[in-house]
Amino acid sequence: MDDDILTVQNVNKTYDSGHTALKDVSLSLHRGEILALLGPNGAGKTTLISIICGIVRATSGRVAVDGHDTVHQYRAARRMIGLVPQEIVLEPFESVYDTVRYSRGIFGARPNDAYIESLLKRLSLWDKKSAITKELSGGMKRRCLIAKALAHEPRILFLDEPTAGVDVELRKDMWDTVADLKTHGVTTILTTHYIEEAEAIADRIGVISDGRLLLVEEKASLMKRLGRRQVRLMLTAPVNTVPEALEKYGLELGPDNSLIYNYNEDEPQVAALLADLSAAGFTLRDVETQKRSLEEIFVELVRSANGDGA
Ligand code: ATP
Repeated sequence: MDDDILTVQNVNKTYDSGHTALKDVSLSLHRGEILALLGPNGAGKTTLISIICGIVRATSGRVAVDGHDTVHQYRAARRMIGLVPQEIVLEPFESVYDTVRYSRGIFGARPNDAYIESLLKRLSLWDKKSAITKELSGGMKRRCLIAKALAHEPRILFLDEPTAGVDVELRKDMWDTVADLKTHGVTTILTTHYIEEAEAIADRIGVISDGRLLLVEEKASLMKRLGRRQVRLMLTAPVNTVPEALEKYGLELGPDNSLIYNYNEDEPQVAALLADLSAAGFTLRDVETQKRSLEEIFVELVRSANGDGA
């Protein structure tokens, strides 16, 4: 599709050790979207990103970045990518401005002071342009790494575990930054172990486990498809069995005189259940609702893919 900035086609990777890290992975990324790649340790996330960046060679399959083949047109493909490493690696005594400007030069891009200025402003670093990097706060250092990655005007930004070991406030700051970059048309892939991170900022979510891409799906539709909900109805009077009149709802008995109703977001019958409950002579004391989190969905997906029903 014309609008795809990245296409990964049937990529396999077996390392020299004989270990197969990727198995028939295919993926397309639309311009301007944010994809979160979730997966447990050793799932193959870094291998996939390294192949897309041309650092590791696939055993078979094909990757194109903005139409450029990552093997045969390596330089053109690599120039389309900005990579933000997990660790903070900055020259301590260099100014913010110089370090970002230098990064642009590495990719052979012509100096463009107006672009560097707009980039630093976008990342709220313009006030700090003359500060040396070691004087920056943790959040500013991370934003400085993003500015370096975007200095040569790539089309895709890779964030490898952007908030690993980062406190809650900084994490929010990073999420805001990524959301803001999206409004400027930046396409982002981030790898993460944090489900809440994917839930907070991704448009689509990819789940990778044991080298296989189990799914790539719109976050909203994934939540809708697999996000089960639960209502706990607490009653004023004791209830020992599920009333016959309510059998069709598949209710379970819960603690403290409660009945539990599990349903999918797609087919809620809560209003009908409440009406039937009242008609059957029960009075509600309280109601509790619960939504299955993306984390629970993820754990279940990985388990069932590994053939582990437990
Ligand atoms: P993490 O979340 O822990 O960073 P990951 O999803 O990024 O993990 P990879 O680093 O891609 O996973 O590793 C996938 C598998 O490939 C692992 O079993 C790893 O041990 C193996 N692997 C990675 N690099 C090499 C290599 N150079 N040689 C042999 N095996 C490797």
